[in-house]
Amino acid sequence: MHAAIIGAGLSGLTCARVLDRASVRVTVLDENPTPGGRMQSSGIAGDLHADLGTRSFFVRDERFTKQVRDWQQRGLVATWAPSLVNIHRPGHAEQGRFRSVRHVGTPTMHAPAIDLARSIAGRVRLEQNRRIDAIHRTSGGWVLRDESGRADHFDAVVLAVPSPRAAKLLAEIPHLHALASAVPMMPAWATAAVFRERLPIGFDAANVQIGARCEHAGVLAWMDRESSKPGRPSDEIWLLHAGEQWSASHRDDTPAEVGRRMVQAMFAAADAPPVEPIAVHAHLWRHAFPVAPLCDGCLFDETLAVGACGDWCMGSRVEGAYLSGLAMAARLLGERSDFLEPCIAQEH
Ligand SMILES: Cc1cc2nc3c(=O)[nH]c(=O)nc-3n(C[C@H](O)[C@H](O)[C@H](O)COP(=O)(O)OP(=O)(O)OC[C@H]3O[C@@H](n4cnc5c(N)ncnc54)[C@H](O)[C@@H]3O)c2cc1C
Repeated sequence: MHAAIIGAGLSGLTCARVLDRASVRVTVLDENPTPGGRMQSSGIAGDLHADLGTRSFFVRDERFTKQVRDWQQRGLVATWAPSLVNIHRPGHAEQGRFRSVRHVGTPTMHAPAIDLARSIAGRVRLEQNRRIDAIHRTSGGWVLRDESGRADHFDAVVLAVPSPRAAKLLAEIPHLHALASAVPMMPAWATAAVFRERLPIGFDAANVQIGARCEHAGVLAWMDRESSKPGRPSDEIWLLHAGEQWSASHRDDTPAEVGRRMVQAMFAAADAPPVEPIAVHAHLWRHAFPVAPLCDGCLFDETLAVGACGDWCMGSRVEGAYLSGLAMAARLLGERSDFLEPCIAQEH
């Protein structure tokens, strides 16, 4: 069997590694130049990077715990214990009670994804910068067509991509198309702002939920000082994530305008005197978070040899993406999988 996995995020790479270990021939295709998907540290200015996607992740499931422990032992993941506050009113930072241990990739958020890609390199073909625009079932298997019109043939296909992208690719398979379409995803703006000097802000990270009647309401959902994460350089970079509703209603704004608004909201939330950043980089994640994700592990049609996996199939978030990749591989290998346990509520 030659399986194509579209998507080199955590779910796709996890699935690829299990299939590879079972001696299945695998090709992974991704439109981005680097693996990791939404678990990503991106270049923001010069050689500076920031975690524009995943900010940290939690570990609960036994299988994920084992994997994360291995990454920790090899220096690819570390725990992060920021001084974390809740901000409900501008300038009012309250210490919250946060029980779970946060983890981050080190030295970049996508270090674990790069490790997964390396672990299969040589046997699994990983084709970056290839966007797949259509998949067609033929009598001989699957034909994948990329944006240049190039076609490749496979026996099985896994869509390890966000649900709206999966729904589009599954247009010719109505029952799977309907399941993927039932999980819309919200956009999220992420902004990294670089400052010449350390700002007078007395916490490392904040959950921000500014009430509706205040100025800057809904603009920010999260802010953190990147240098507080293990393995990061000491540059003063603040990472800002916008609220989902605000992101949705500003999805057509320019990155420059969004960056400016988010930096203003940051100073207001922290009640710090505004300072001009030396660089601002804003990025829109069009499909950031699934609304009402499934708890099914993955979608699979055994007869057609096509499936879909990703965070949206397994309760969302990094851990869900990993478990969904495992579930997908198990289904393709015809193994029993017990992934139908209720998804665990996620702490932010
Ligand atoms: C701003 C933001 C903050 C987040 N914060 C957290 C957090 O704090 N904690 C947490 O646990 N999770 C967080 N998440 C969610 C987490 O990043 C995801 O749950 C996880 O990375 C999803 O992995 P995945 O493999 O399912 O999908 P993805 O990472 O989205 O991977 C999909 C891959 O498919 C590729 N692709 C898509 N369509 C195509 C196509 N047609 N052809 C080729 N390639 C394609 C993409 O390039 C991508 O690499 C956050 C996400 C965002 C956006």
